[in-house]
Amino acid sequence: MSDAIKDVWEKIDAGSDFVVELTSELVKIPSVNPKFQVDAELNREPEVQDRVQKQLEEDGFSTERWDVFPDRPNVTGEWEGTDEKSLILCGHIDVVPVGDSSAWARDPFGGQIEEGRVWGRGAVDMKAGVAACMAAALAIRQAGVTLEGRLAIHSVVDEEAGGFGAMDLVKNKRLARRAIIAEPTWGNVVPAEGGLSWVRVTIFGKQAHAGWRFNSLWPQPHTEGRIEPGVNAIELANRFLNALRDFEASRCRDNWHPLTPAGLATINPGVIRGGAGMGEDGNPAIMTNAAMISDVVTIDLDYKFMPDENFEDVKSEFEDFVGHFAATDPWMRENPPKILWDLFDLNFPPMNTPIDHPLTLSIANRATEVQAKPPEIKGFEAVTDAAHYAGAGVDPVVYGPSGDGFHGNNECVDINSLIETTKVIAAAVIDNCGTR
Ligand SMILES: [Zn+2]
Repeated sequence: MSDAIKDVWEKIDAGSDFVVELTSELVKIPSVNPKFQVDAELNREPEVQDRVQKQLEEDGFSTERWDVFPDRPNVTGEWEGTDEKSLILCGHIDVVPVGDSSAWARDPFGGQIEEGRVWGRGAVDMKAGVAACMAAALAIRQAGVTLEGRLAIHSVVDEEAGGFGAMDLVKNKRLARRAIIAEPTWGNVVPAEGGLSWVRVTIFGKQAHAGWRFNSLWPQPHTEGRIEPGVNAIELANRFLNALRDFEASRCRDNWHPLTPAGLATINPGVIRGGAGMGEDGNPAIMTNAAMISDVVTIDLDYKFMPDENFEDVKSEFEDFVGHFAATDPWMRENPPKILWDLFDLNFPPMNTPIDHPLTLSIANRATEVQAKPPEIKGFEAVTDAAHYAGAGVDPVVYGPSGDGFHGNNECVDINSLIETTKVIAAAVIDNCGTR
């Protein structure tokens, strides 16, 4: 082990209260993402960023701060160094709502330090990770280590609602070669995750009065004044969903990545709306009248793809499937379903950093040295801000502490793992940035 890492680890052990107290302090400032719950008492992302920015400035980082949405700022800090060995440490400071607070044993924003844990909403997801990044930097500074590569710390908003904080950052700011995203991974090393797009499929029918539906079931002798039956978009959507299920199963069977669970390429129909008349917002205008034969259905899909799949290929494969489905029906041949990718701009590029990438190896080796429980190298089932860095050409790895209750009740981060995370991140910074 290099002397620099030994010195830095000694600083972390000697000052281990710092990361614990900083986590607690950040938890005590509620920063519920206002896209989930609007409440001025709870939507206090700017105050969390005040605390982060103050810490970064004390530690000699040059900082930047800008609003991604009104009063929802990102904060970044940089220590100058070479591009060649540059590294980003990233975390998000927004949290999901508390939910039913009576199900919590403690004040969800109390930040209590008890039973070897820090408690509260955002403790493990992921104010602990943000605190660990800053504590790692502080220890490097206290140990008098000067890095050769540029080190940046990115504290972003809005991860929980699509990652628009990170998306804005990667579009507008200077990046680095590599990044560590300190989301909770229970001490495991996560260099891969699938991609995700939300997709809206709109299926068109022909509006008519339901009273004449008998005409489509029992076609009547054609007499004068016969009223043409409509085409029921809800029934077409039912057929579509059955076909989609088979298509999903074949994608899950045929696509495989060594680090992710089998069958990860799922396509979840999450929202469906059927009714009559196309509304201005792209959804059915009338959804309260069952006497109409529905002519518009929208189905919103959560469309996942594998870490090593290309989004353009994914799109054309699905468009082919929908085209073939439509070709089986004379009406749909003339009136094909419409596909809208990246609904609400939601798109997470896949992350596929190799397992033998220097950053993956550095974190895995340091975690093996530090942790009571050796790390696994594995893929992530959901998505993180790492996606947006990967999409911008950065090589990210997700690594962070263990805890419980994230997005649930009684959230907490385990203090031992928080200190281990701080040490592993600090060592990975030195491995990757080098010293001068
Ligand atoms: Zn998170």
